[in-house]
Amino acid sequence: LKIAVVNSGSSSLKFKLFEAKEVRAHFVVENIGRADAKIIFALREEKIAISKIVANHYEALKEIVKLLKEYEILADFSHLDAIGHRVVHGGETFIDATVIDDEAIKKIESLKHLDPLHNGANLEGILLALKIAPLVKQIAVFDTAFHSKMPKEAYLYALEAKYYENYGIRRYGFHGSSHSYLAKACAKELQKDIRELNIITLHLGNGSSVCAVQGGVSIDTSMGFTPLEGVIMGTRCGDIDAGVVFYMQRELGLSVDETDEILNTRSGLFGLCGTNDIREISISGNANAKLALDMLSRSIKKYIGAYMALLGRVDAIVFGGGIGENSAILRKMIFENINFGILFDDNANEDSRKIISKADSKIDIMVIKTDEEQEIANECYKILES
Ligand code: AMP
Repeated sequence: LKIAVVNSGSSSLKFKLFEAKEVRAHFVVENIGRADAKIIFALREEKIAISKIVANHYEALKEIVKLLKEYEILADFSHLDAIGHRVVHGGETFIDATVIDDEAIKKIESLKHLDPLHNGANLEGILLALKIAPLVKQIAVFDTAFHSKMPKEAYLYALEAKYYENYGIRRYGFHGSSHSYLAKACAKELQKDIRELNIITLHLGNGSSVCAVQGGVSIDTSMGFTPLEGVIMGTRCGDIDAGVVFYMQRELGLSVDETDEILNTRSGLFGLCGTNDIREISISGNANAKLALDMLSRSIKKYIGAYMALLGRVDAIVFGGGIGENSAILRKMIFENINFGILFDDNANEDSRKIISKADSKIDIMVIKTDEEQEIANECYKILES
């Protein structure tokens, strides 16, 4: 089977081609619509970067089609068995991966108001792929789906019922493909049945979330109605007293849109110390950078504690995402002064080994390279093979 996975973001497009269940080619188009746009692609071991202005997502996808042909990897998209698409918000409508037809497109469109930035870009990716390959099966895989089995006490906010019943205001959770991938990879590493394991997965990247996975099922997660809730992130503030938002609007005269922009794009690590790159923050001697790192590790530690209490017993804690996989400093800070039988292995952590706890630790701590595209491809195989 030949499957392409498209992960269409607001200014980027990631693309992976799977053939016989192996990755055949991998593309990342960055800074779409800007002068510093770049196409980076890897064909087996070879990594190539091209600087080229790519005006929009359609051009990005067309460049990928062209390069695949040029390198004699794929003559055109009509040779694919399926194209899998990452869609951030599935609301309560989509609790599983779904074959895209006119009805599904209408439904995804109708969910745009829940997450205009992400779902808009995801939908654009779907429509473009349909334009390029109208006869190929297209499959949408939703970030929220993995969390769709959370119990009511986890997903409801303490508001009057009408806000949930009439307006769908609840916790949805995001990064589902990543949490699912991390939990499965952890079970595989431990050579145990996922149904017998309780795992806390930490997807820590520019956007971050924590998930309590019981027997392979998400029973709670830190992101909420939108990806703004939870741990401190690159540019998002994470958990905050909703009263702050009223105060900003009432007393500081900020509009709804201005507040939205501040909390989503100018807060978090960036708001605290002027950068959201954990590498810069870690080596900076600046007091604000140090404070940002202290606040970040504390906010993640709080979720680990909360999910340990919720799960009752924890077998493994797994780090994934750009920060989780690479920042040994942050991982070490998180486990400072934590006991509960956890034995953190400093050397293994420095080397970013797969298991960074000691053999006799009550809880295994792991670092796993997350792979959302692989998880999306797996969902496509499930549909194609059923
Ligand atoms: P993601 O959203 O998963 O791509 O993660 C992006 C973030 O990961 C960046 O903002 C960096 O802070 C962090 N990151 C990426 N690569 C590294 C690295 N080699 N060392 C430390 N942090 C990294």
